[in-house]
Amino acid sequence: EKKSQENQQFEENLDGLRFVQFHFSDPTGGLHYMEESIDNVPGILKSGVGVDGSSVIGFGQVEKSDIILFPERSSFSRFVVEGEEIGMYWCHVLTPELEKHPNDPRNVLQLVIDKAAKMGFECEMFSELEFYVLDEKTRKPVDNARYLSPPPLDKCSRLRYDFGHAYEKAGLKVKRIHHELGPGQNEVELQLTPVMKNCDDSMIAIWLAQLISSKYNWVVDFTPKPFPEIPGNGLHQHIRLKDIKTKENVMAAKEGGLSKIALQFIAGMLKYSRDITAVFGNDPNTYDRLKPGYEAPIYATWDYSNRSALVRIPAIGKGDLSKTRVEFRGGDASGSIHLLCAMILAAGLKGIEENLECPKNTIGDVAHLTEQELKDLKIEILPTSLPESLKILEESKFIAEFIDPSLKTFMNQNGLQKMKK
Ligand code: GLU
Ligand code: MG
Ligand code: MG
Repeated sequence: EKKSQENQQFEENLDGLRFVQFHFSDPTGGLHYMEESIDNVPGILKSGVGVDGSSVIGFGQVEKSDIILFPERSSFSRFVVEGEEIGMYWCHVLTPELEKHPNDPRNVLQLVIDKAAKMGFECEMFSELEFYVLDEKTRKPVDNARYLSPPPLDKCSRLRYDFGHAYEKAGLKVKRIHHELGPGQNEVELQLTPVMKNCDDSMIAIWLAQLISSKYNWVVDFTPKPFPEIPGNGLHQHIRLKDIKTKENVMAAKEGGLSKIALQFIAGMLKYSRDITAVFGNDPNTYDRLKPGYEAPIYATWDYSNRSALVRIPAIGKGDLSKTRVEFRGGDASGSIHLLCAMILAAGLKGIEENLECPKNTIGDVAHLTEQELKDLKIEILPTSLPESLKILEESKFIAEFIDPSLKTFMNQNGLQKMKK
């Protein structure tokens, strides 16, 4: 009975499609997919599809090269790419022994989602994806516009409309797309969704942005700090925890403001901020962005509406408790967004588990804090270089709890290689 229901849904979803893509992501955040003819799809939904893991960064060696992509039925969507309507599943990567591959960022995130569920929580997030639009040839920003400038100074509005339409057709829920502060810098904001879907969708958003901008002979550059003297590209995450049963927002206090759970979650993110950074920031360029003066964080502090803080509480509409959430501003798109969100969630949950007391919010631009003040207020300094982060990766008990030694080894090698470049 259940089987036939599933099959029915399956046929309904794939109606009229000729090709289906099976997506997965590598531990550096790269997107990959195997594309299959529609006739192969029923078999793959049952037993997965094997691909050559030794040819994808971060998975296996040549002697043990097979990895298996196992599709997640609920992730199915259909969209138009290169003029073709295709079907798409997100997959978990399995080892040849059919175990979850520890280097698959989606598997890491799933572990943390399972932990949240055991604690009675469901996590939703949305991403703010910042990027520069550059001329393909000159590699210079395509306009001189600033935050929210209209055309003709802003040259990206047509591009943003194209993104919006393509995203909608791909089933992504867009909140807004706007010009950012830097010349040619723009930002895509998605809507709150369950954290796994948010990460999957963010990767699709970046991919489609690359695809669409190439039609303009432009490139989109999501690297954390493409140019030294102008703002960097953050990947801020907005986070909301809900009660898994009642679906109520547990970050909102009944009388308004932040609940105890929210404060503990913030305390966890602050306490483990160096560890989070070491995981998502596996590239020297991450540390070029984490400098004062460009709305990027340098210290583990939190505040309301303060853009120099690592954790910001957005000005949320009065009275609407469902909107209460916290924003982690430390992230960037240099690595895996699944790993970034896995670490944010893991750190926040630790704060709840350890019953942490939230430090007082730090008011004003934190760049002015003296060394003594930092010490007195017990404020952590975010790592300032990749070597520092690799050391944290090596030593952190927090990281070891969520990241398998095989993934750690890969990240260490990957980081060292990036430093050579
Ligand atoms: N571009 C800034 C960053 O690197 C963020 C600006 C904003 O608050 O949107 O994080
Ligand atoms: Mg922004
Ligand atoms: Mg933001």
